[in-house]
Amino acid sequence: MDTCPACGNPYKSDLSKFCSRCGAARPGDVVCGNCGATLEHTDCFCDIGGAQTAYGREVDKALGKE
Ligand SMILES: [Zn+2]
Ligand SMILES: [Zn+2]
Repeated sequence: MDTCPACGNPYKSDLSKFCSRCGAARPGDVVCGNCGATLEHTDCFCDIGGAQTAYGREVDKALGKE
């Protein structure tokens, strides 16, 4: 099951649009800016072309890799 990127709380169902704990809006599907492949919002890299996603850059930032 998908979890809220803000607080880590699992969504109640696939239809959930908001986190039931913190109220943050659930991110939609992400489209790769490089090749147009549909990715999960938690994917750090495109599995087709290997391009890093915005989420991947955020993760790098959080890990201090930047
Ligand atoms: Zn949340
Ligand atoms: Zn791609």
